[in-house]
Amino acid sequence: MVQLKTDTQIEAMRDSGRVVAQLLAAVRDTAAVGVSLRELDEVARGVLREAGAGSPFLNYRPHFAPTPFPAVICASVNDAIVHGIPTDLRLRDGDLVSIDAGAILDGWAGDSAISFIVGRARPADTLLVETAFAALDAGIAAAVVGNRIGDIAHAIGSICRKAGYGIPEGFGGHGIGRAMHEDPGVPNEGRPGRGMVLRHGMALAIEPMLTAGGHDEFYPDQDGWTLRTTDGSRAAHAEHSVAITNDGPRILTAL
Ligand code: MG
Ligand code: MG
Repeated sequence: MVQLKTDTQIEAMRDSGRVVAQLLAAVRDTAAVGVSLRELDEVARGVLREAGAGSPFLNYRPHFAPTPFPAVICASVNDAIVHGIPTDLRLRDGDLVSIDAGAILDGWAGDSAISFIVGRARPADTLLVETAFAALDAGIAAAVVGNRIGDIAHAIGSICRKAGYGIPEGFGGHGIGRAMHEDPGVPNEGRPGRGMVLRHGMALAIEPMLTAGGHDEFYPDQDGWTLRTTDGSRAAHAEHSVAITNDGPRILTAL
């Protein structure tokens, strides 16, 4: 069931979303050649602590997971698409890193992700990351009252496909509110004019994921969490939590 939020509740979600934005900015500033993924998680924990916020990621255990998630960020490097566990792996020159993070503040969740390249970027990776953000922007632009979920999905999917990228099957965005994952699902590909009508007070996490090799398949790493591309090609992920309002889409997880 879709939980519509009041304007006051959207303001509370904006506060939570701002913490996620601060967390991601701090992680981005810290990420450099030689820095470990675990160190990035430590920085993220510090931002949450400082803000008095909790993490919806820590100890999260969806049906597919063999273990509770052990960190407050997902750190997915190169062929890892999403759900990477921050380990002692140290970043190397040219790595493509996706960081996904959330916060819970006063009972409201925020969820956002960024992708970036550490050190010298390969042009192909830069294009992949730029396309992920372009797809996110297009999805957000379609998140207006009167449109449908399929309009968001179509906006995202057509940008990814036009560029020749793959879209991991079965993963996408979601409603967000008191819980990180609420109804409705927001697929990364779909038909315009289909699906639930968007209304004032809906809050959605919109999150394109792209694979450079053009394949939609993936496989879980031995850790049971990390999803990797089957062809070893790189992947990018970008996400914002967005409120649908009569004044247009409002990005909750901006700084
Ligand atoms: Mg996320
Ligand atoms: Mg999400």
